[in-house]
Amino acid sequence: MAFEGLSSRLQNVFGKLRGKGKVSEDDVNEAMREVRLALLEADVNFKVVKDFIAKVKERAVGLEVTKSFTPGMVVVDIVNKELTELMGGTQSKLAKSNKPPTVILMAGLQGAGKTTSTAKLAKLLLKDKHKPLMIAGDIYRPAAIKQLQVLGEQIGVPVFTLGDQTSPVEIARAGLQFAKENGHDYVIVDTAGRLHIDEALMSEIRQIHEVTKPDEVLLVVDAMTGQEAVNVAQSFHSQLELTGVILTKLDGDTRGGAALSVKAVTGCPIKFAATGEKIEPLEPFHPERMASRILG
Ligand code: GDP
Repeated sequence: MAFEGLSSRLQNVFGKLRGKGKVSEDDVNEAMREVRLALLEADVNFKVVKDFIAKVKERAVGLEVTKSFTPGMVVVDIVNKELTELMGGTQSKLAKSNKPPTVILMAGLQGAGKTTSTAKLAKLLLKDKHKPLMIAGDIYRPAAIKQLQVLGEQIGVPVFTLGDQTSPVEIARAGLQFAKENGHDYVIVDTAGRLHIDEALMSEIRQIHEVTKPDEVLLVVDAMTGQEAVNVAQSFHSQLELTGVILTKLDGDTRGGAALSVKAVTGCPIKFAATGEKIEPLEPFHPERMASRILG
């Protein structure tokens, strides 16, 4: 289960604080030292941890924690609020163009869960009574088109493809035209994954961006890869102005570092969380719920 280590460590720290009748400044400092270690161990970015602890301390001092009735609770509450802020504060909604179709460009490394998330997002849109179209823009990975077609059939969402002999830029252009002619109000463009950030594929996705003028550019990152996910997000963001992140594989035993760092490091909100291989509607990411879950 994701966040298990972090969650139990934080609960332990706060359990000790709650158990005390009076809490001294030293107690708070000790608790913060432990929170800091717990976050670092959960693979949260070093600088993010530093800022986080500074903010919590600042608020705790401001509230005169030591004189409070239930000081332990006050500290927990402050940490909860700061954790929520760290992950973006409030839920960040999917864009909606006032000139349909709304175009969503999917980006990410190979294996992150891009194709799976494309289908899950389509299923969410379908559930919300939209008429999505998926465009098969990954012509390089063998069977990527087929995979999307199978998923499309499974969820009842059409897939636009021109096979693997036409350039993805042309496919995207033609797919968008098809969507307009057929009354699709959302278009999700699945693009080629890459093993590493490489210039040729980056240039291709920039051209697709140019042609489709997306309302959303969502980067799919694998939460299990921790800090690497944050590095990937930072590199993509510098090349391709992302509008949001889809964090996948939160059902695994990720330590949580990516979820807790990606917004602070890149400025991009996590819009969705994915928690399984089954094609269920993608779940919107709620920072406040995630913070409460971590704190137990
Ligand atoms: P792509 O190369 O980025 O398009 O990745 P795929 O969508 O093909 O996914 C790669 C693998 O990760 C597949 O085996 C998926 O079933 C799996 N996968 C995708 N999302 C999740 C998730 O949220 N949780 C888990 N456990 N597996 C996932």
